[in-house]
Amino acid sequence: MADNTNYGDFIRGIDKLTSEQKEVLYERLKAELSRPHSQSIECENAEVIENVSDPEKIKRPRILGKSKPRSVIECCLHCGSISIKKYGLTKGGIQRYRCKDCGKTFSENYGLITHYTHLSEWQWKEIIRGLIEGLSLTEISKNISTSVGTVWSCRMKIYQSIQNIYEYCDSFNSIVEADGKYERISFKGYKDKTFFIDKLGRLPRHHRSRKERIEYLADDYKKLFKCNPHLLKEMVYSSNRKMVGRETIDINHQHLCVMTAVDRNNNIYIKPVTSGTPTSHDVDRYLADRISSDAILVTDECHSYKYLCRKNRIRHEIIESGTFVTDTFSLSRVNSIHSSLDRFFRSKEYYPATKYIDLYLMMFWWLKKNKDLNGNDVVSKLYLIMTGYVSSETRQKMKRITVKELCNRELPIDTKGYYI
Ligand SMILES: [Zn+2]
Repeated sequence: MADNTNYGDFIRGIDKLTSEQKEVLYERLKAELSRPHSQSIECENAEVIENVSDPEKIKRPRILGKSKPRSVIECCLHCGSISIKKYGLTKGGIQRYRCKDCGKTFSENYGLITHYTHLSEWQWKEIIRGLIEGLSLTEISKNISTSVGTVWSCRMKIYQSIQNIYEYCDSFNSIVEADGKYERISFKGYKDKTFFIDKLGRLPRHHRSRKERIEYLADDYKKLFKCNPHLLKEMVYSSNRKMVGRETIDINHQHLCVMTAVDRNNNIYIKPVTSGTPTSHDVDRYLADRISSDAILVTDECHSYKYLCRKNRIRHEIIESGTFVTDTFSLSRVNSIHSSLDRFFRSKEYYPATKYIDLYLMMFWWLKKNKDLNGNDVVSKLYLIMTGYVSSETRQKMKRITVKELCNRELPIDTKGYYI
């Protein structure tokens, strides 16, 4: 349904139906879903999820509630050995396995994020649909009758799983365009006032008016007035400065670089790397293993890429500023990824805290990799991955993710010592 408002109303309206009405709706939806579908969804490594036209073939109900989905277990989730045997059921009725090699046991749902919540399939799918369509946490939480906090943690667990599974797996051996994108460093969620004043030399961004800024400083106002009036003036009286050029970026330490590389086969590398401009060594450190010597690297005039190309004998094509196309080479693909990233961030109700920016970028990467699928297929594919319908190799990378781990993440960039 194109209209999210109607759809949300519809889902919420289910609560108000009588049991009979729910029965009717259930049967109606069942009939709807058993109609032949034209396409089947191809899962990763060409595992094909069967067409639902033949009811006999449906291994698990499309509409559910009671049973949790089952994943495919082919090897030990601890050591990868294929020498495993069934080992009874858990209290919850889930199949357990024991590995003959390492001796450890594990249940079928071990490590799946969907296993450790009390949400059902349709609720998970709603969360996935919401994050793909850019619904707010509040809207999603209303649609599935749960708390905003739960939706937030499910969303972050999905992002984290994507990162655990795929983590920067693309590499390049043809014409590859690279460039950095600068994003504001956000310490949203940090409560420590001295951190803002002493380390960042600024106030939290939500204090907009002068009055609010002075109130926030309170006793520190006098202290700063005495010992650092210049900084005080900067913090209270200057408006939030816009970034101007690379120099400002490196003086203020308020921006991070999202290193980006993209080729014509939709291989993408997009990772937050450093505070400020990356040096030649940074570029080498992050890109050297991914770009083969057969590749041609296309960049702007930034000097940081020269060392990488010389050292690894990669052909380097530099696009001078002001020109958009030189013969066959341009930066149009990387520029288009960056515009698309801006739209992705704007579609969120808030700008992500830097602590989580790598996870958002991972989700962005996954969506770009699946850009040819339609909305429903993207939802189904992501849901199947989260419920363990993946290759054995991938399955082993799926580990339990806790909210505590998410909250205690380190900044995912090389801070160059600025904020510690
Ligand atoms: Zn094992």
